[in-house]
Amino acid sequence: MTEMMYSRKRFYLLSVSFFIFFGILIAITTAIVNYKLASKQNIEQINLRASSELSYKKLYLEDYITHKELVVTILARHLLLNDFITSEGVDERARVNSFFQSVVFANPDIMQLRFINSNGLERIRVDRIDNEIFTYPQIYLQSKYDRYYFQESNQLNKTQLWHSRIDLNIEHGKIELPYKPTYRIAAPVVVNGEHKGIVIVNLLMQRVIDLLTEYANFSTYLIDNEGEIISASDASLAWSKYLKSDIKINNIFPGAFNNDMNQSSLQKSNLFVYSLNQIFDNGEGVKLIMKPKASMLHQIKKNNLISAQIVALVILLISFPLSWVASYAPSKLQSSLLKAFDKIRRFNFIIDSNIATTEIDLKGNFTAVSAKYAEMTGYNHTELIGNTHSLIRHPDTTQKQLDDLWKTILKKEIWQGEFKNINKDGELFWTKQTATPAIDDKGNVTGYTAVIHNITEKKKIEELSITDRLTGLYNRHKLDAVLKAERIRNERHNTRFCAAILDADHFKRVNDTYGHQVGDDVLVKLAAIIKENTRESDFCGRWGGEEFLVVALETDITNTAFLADKLRKAVEETDFTPVEKVTVSIGVAEYSRGETIAHFINRADEALYKAKQTGRNRVVSA
Ligand code: GH3
Ligand code: MG
Ligand code: MG
Repeated sequence: MTEMMYSRKRFYLLSVSFFIFFGILIAITTAIVNYKLASKQNIEQINLRASSELSYKKLYLEDYITHKELVVTILARHLLLNDFITSEGVDERARVNSFFQSVVFANPDIMQLRFINSNGLERIRVDRIDNEIFTYPQIYLQSKYDRYYFQESNQLNKTQLWHSRIDLNIEHGKIELPYKPTYRIAAPVVVNGEHKGIVIVNLLMQRVIDLLTEYANFSTYLIDNEGEIISASDASLAWSKYLKSDIKINNIFPGAFNNDMNQSSLQKSNLFVYSLNQIFDNGEGVKLIMKPKASMLHQIKKNNLISAQIVALVILLISFPLSWVASYAPSKLQSSLLKAFDKIRRFNFIIDSNIATTEIDLKGNFTAVSAKYAEMTGYNHTELIGNTHSLIRHPDTTQKQLDDLWKTILKKEIWQGEFKNINKDGELFWTKQTATPAIDDKGNVTGYTAVIHNITEKKKIEELSITDRLTGLYNRHKLDAVLKAERIRNERHNTRFCAAILDADHFKRVNDTYGHQVGDDVLVKLAAIIKENTRESDFCGRWGGEEFLVVALETDITNTAFLADKLRKAVEETDFTPVEKVTVSIGVAEYSRGETIAHFINRADEALYKAKQTGRNRVVSA
C-alpha cells in the first residue's frame, strides 16, 4: 500500500514537473517567436512611421512648388508683361518692374525674379539681397544666353514648365556663403503665338530642405540619381557635388545603392528610400533616404523585449495551474490502475496458492503450474515444467481415460474427470480435473488449462462406505447397488450376470470351538480366497455374517457354477489352522430378465439351501 502511495506521488511529481518543463519550454519559445515577429514588424512600423512623417511634408512641398509654378505661369502670361514686350515702353517697363517687385515682396523665399528674352538677355530683374528688394536698371542687365537654365528653359513649348536642379547659388563664379540652396522654375512667355522668352524665379530652398531633412527619429540624406548628397542631417555631408567632396552616398552605405537595389533589401539594412520625382520635376531623380536613429531602434527593441518577457511570464503563470490540472487526472488514473493491479496481484497470489491449476501443451507437457498444484504433487515448478502427467500417473490410469480427455479437448469442449496419482513421496492421491481447451487467436487448440481438486479424502470416505470392515471386500450396501445397476444394464443392453452365494458350513461350531476371534480370522481368509479366485470385473462382497456374494458379469450360469466350484475347492484345500477343516456351500443363479433382485437372490438362496441339505461343501445351481 505504501509502495503504491509512493508510486502515485512519484508519478504525480513526475507529471507535474513534465508539464512545468513544457510550460517553460512553450513560454520561452513563444517569447522568442513573439520577439522575432515583433522584430519583423519593426521594419513595417518604421517604414510606416517614416512614410507618414514624410507624406505630410510631401503634401506641403507639392503645394509649395505648385504655388511657385502658378506664380511664374501668371507672370509669364500677364498682360503687363505682354504690353511691355510689345511696346518696350518705359512706362510699361516700370509697371512690370513694380508688379515683379510686389510678387517678390509677397514671397520671402523668392531671391530673384526675371524675364529673359528669347535671345538670353535679362529684360526685367528683381533681386532680394539681405531682405531688400532691388529692381535692376536696364544698363545692369546681362546676357544669360550661355547659362544652362536659359538653354534648357528656352526650349519649352508654351504649356511646359521648367525646373532646375537643386544647387547652390553662384555669384561671380563663386559659391555664395552662407550656402544658398537654390531652385529655379521657369515658364515660357508667348505673345501672339510667338516665343518671346522666359519668366524665371530663383527660390531659396533652405527652409524646404530643412523641412525635408529634419526628423526626430531619422537621419536623412537627400540624394540625386548620381548618388551625390544634396543635403543631409549631418550638414557636413551636404552639397558633395558642388564642394567636390569624395563622400557620396555609396561611401556611407557601401553596396546598398546599386543597380539591383530594392526597397526590401534596403529595409534590411534599415534604410527607407522615397522618391521625390513628383515634386522636383527636374530629371535629377531626387530621393530621400531615411535611416532610423539608434535611439529609436533601441527603444523599439527594448519595448519588444519587454512585451516578449510579459508574454513568457503570462504563459508561465498559466502553465502552473494547467500543469496541476493536467497531471492530476493521469495521476489519479495511475493510482486507480495501481490499486486495481495490486488487487489483481493479491487475488492472483490467493488463487496461485489456493487453487491448483496447470497449463498443458499439445504434447502433454506442463507449461505452467500453480504453487498449490506443485504442493499437491510434491514436485517443484522446475521438476514439473516441461514434464508430462506421467510423472505422477498411477498405473491404474487407463489409456481410455487419457484418450477421452484429449478427444474432448480437441473438440474444443470442457472435459471433467478423475485421476488416480502418486506424489513425489510415493503416496496415492486422487484428483478431479476440469480441463478447458486453450485456443489461440487463429482458433487452433494449443493445449488445455486445468483446475484441479484433490479428492483423496472424498475417495477414502467413499471407499469406507462400500467396504466391509472385517474382510476388506465390498459390503452389503455396495453389493445391493451393484445388483441394482446390473439389473438396469440388463434391461437396457440385455447384458447377463450371475450371483453366487457362499455360506461357511457349521460355522457356529468354529466359533463355539475356537472362539469368536478365530472365527473372524477364518472369515478374513475366506475373503482373500474369494478375491484371489475371481476376475477384476467380478464384484465380491460380504453378504452378511459368514455369507459372501460374488456378482459375475458377462457370464452364464454354467461358467459361474464352474467358478463357484473352483472357490469351493480352494477353501477345502486351504489350511485354516487352528481350525481343522473349513468348507463352504454355494448357491448359484443367473439373472433372468424382468425378475426383481429380491427374487433373483432368493433363487440363489434356495440353491444354497439345497446344497446345505444335500450334504454341504457343494455347489447347487438354481
Ligand atoms: P450351516 O450354515 O452349515 O447350516 O451351519 P452354521 O453353524 O453355519 O449355521 P448358522 O447360519 O445358524 O450359524 C451362523 C453362525 O456364524 C452364527 C454366528 O455365530 C456365526 N457368525 C456370524 N457372523 C460372524 C462373525 O462375524 N464372526 C464370527 N466369528 N462368527 C460369526
Ligand atoms: Mg449362514
Ligand atoms: Mg453357515
